[in-house]
Amino acid sequence: MSDMKTIFGKIICGDIPADVVYEDDDVLAFKDVNPQAPIHILIIPKKEEIPTLNDAESRHKELLGHMLLTASRIAADKGIAESGYRLIMNCNAEGGQTVFHLHLHLLGGRQMTGF
Ligand code: 5GP
Repeated sequence: MSDMKTIFGKIICGDIPADVVYEDDDVLAFKDVNPQAPIHILIIPKKEEIPTLNDAESRHKELLGHMLLTASRIAADKGIAESGYRLIMNCNAEGGQTVFHLHLHLLGGRQMTGF
């Protein structure tokens, strides 16, 4: 954990504060500092810094599934499971990724547009 370089690594280490909504041994979920919806939460792996989805390997299958299930549980906790929500994972520059520590965006609380 100590060799994590990104801003999310610093959040995991406690060097930068975050509004944490869920945490277990494998993932951390916290509010996005610049929310794009009434509910905007980031779900990140805790134990290792995987820069992008391109860097994920077969051994990360369980972790990736756990990130998705964590998102759905947080959505239920926040009361938006039935109304609906959107999950986004940006990859590299044209995907709009700015922080190179794998993360899943959970967005909800308003009507999503686009796509
Ligand atoms: P990306 O564009 O890489 O998919 O998403 C990165 C997200 O991280 C952005 O939505 C941005 O607002 C959020 N973010 C960047 N720095 C911080 C921070 O220090 N704290 C929190 N809570 N969110 C951050």
